[in-house]
Amino acid sequence: QATPKPPPNPSPLRNAKFFQANMRILVTGGAGFIGSHLVDKLMENEKNEVIVADNYFTGSKDNLKKWIGHPRFELIRHDVTEPLLIEVDQIYHLACPASPIFYKYNPVKTIKTNVIGTLNMLGLAKRVGARILLTSTSEVYGDPLIHPQTESYWGNVNPIGVRSCYDEGKRVAETLMFDYHRQHGIEIRIARIFNTYGPRMNIDDGRVVSNFIAQAIRDDPLTVQAPGTQTRSFCYVSDMVDGLIRLMQGDNTGPINIGNPGEFTMIELAENVKELINPKVEIIMVENTPDDPRQRKPDITKAKDLLGWEPKVKLRDGLPLMEDDFRTRLGVPKNK
Ligand code: NAD
Ligand code: UDP
Ligand code: UDP
Repeated sequence: QATPKPPPNPSPLRNAKFFQANMRILVTGGAGFIGSHLVDKLMENEKNEVIVADNYFTGSKDNLKKWIGHPRFELIRHDVTEPLLIEVDQIYHLACPASPIFYKYNPVKTIKTNVIGTLNMLGLAKRVGARILLTSTSEVYGDPLIHPQTESYWGNVNPIGVRSCYDEGKRVAETLMFDYHRQHGIEIRIARIFNTYGPRMNIDDGRVVSNFIAQAIRDDPLTVQAPGTQTRSFCYVSDMVDGLIRLMQGDNTGPINIGNPGEFTMIELAENVKELINPKVEIIMVENTPDDPRQRKPDITKAKDLLGWEPKVKLRDGLPLMEDDFRTRLGVPKNK
């Protein structure tokens, strides 16, 4: 029998497969830093309905306050380690603490979030036929032995270290994604996110950009962790959100690196923050934490070729945007 044609006029019986109907999108971890910016972008499209599921461990309702009460928006207090029964077309699965001080706080819970949480979201995707995107991390490369990191690199990860709950947790989450894809035909997307910064980061989350900006605003010394020559590549959050949406909408499962290839040592980062935000602030060297990767920079050839994506915001342009947000939240105006 021939494929049925859509009726000529929209009728109450119209079917999402025939018409460009509304897209219902679940964002787990949507009350967090990247998640709330993603929600802002998704809500700009009037065809999108957005549901956020978050347990508020590191996120907050404050990040979503402009959407609470909006007819296309719904916020659910929910822990992804518990099953979730809803009907959606797409799932952006971000739920997981991202800052070392928070993911090390309760490492067993971090593993449960990555493993059981991802399993539940895959079970949901399977039941309703939704496409699911996982925000994995550059930490799956561990302390990398190749530089810059390409997606084909398998990584150099300590399985029993203090960071393992996060990086091994994300590695299992990626495995689960591919096993559901191969075994059950689920449509999957995996983004390997490199260090991201911007407004709404938790002020005292211990990550380097938030630490340095808060320290510069408070006139406290910038704490470079030894040796200071370790490198990171920092992506502004609007670029990140753009990359995630392109990945979700495109045809490639990934994994695809999403990050800014501009590479800085922590000393260089401190010098930039000092120059841009507070030229009088001191820079000091402090002790580091175990298993700190020595260098990290994404190879984004795949993102460029397959998604037509590359970051636009340079570090020196992004830092002042974050400074404005931190000053507002800390109550310290620019020229006090
Ligand atoms: P974040 O901590 O601001 O956001 C994470 C959100 O997940 C928070 O709102 C938190 O409350 C929620 N959450 C945590 N555990 C949960 C659970 N069990 N159930 C429901 N909600 C839960 O972090 P972020 O920087 O926005 O990171 C978002 C995602 O991106 C994470 O998956 C993280 O691993 C990934 N990522 C971030 C970076 C980065 O530099 N920010 C780098 C690599 C990967
Ligand atoms: N699950 C969920 N929401 C759903 C469907 C499943 O949270 O809509 C959870 C379910 O509780 C299970 C997990 O997803 O723990 C994996 O589901 P799947 O159906 O793949 O496996 P099974 O239930 O057969 O173990
Ligand atoms: N770092 C630092 N000073 C700080 C916090 C972090 O020099 O106050 C360093 C840390 O040693 C690491 C880098 O900054 O080399 C990035 O750390 P972050 O926790 O932000 O991210 P991740 O290690 O997860 O990439």
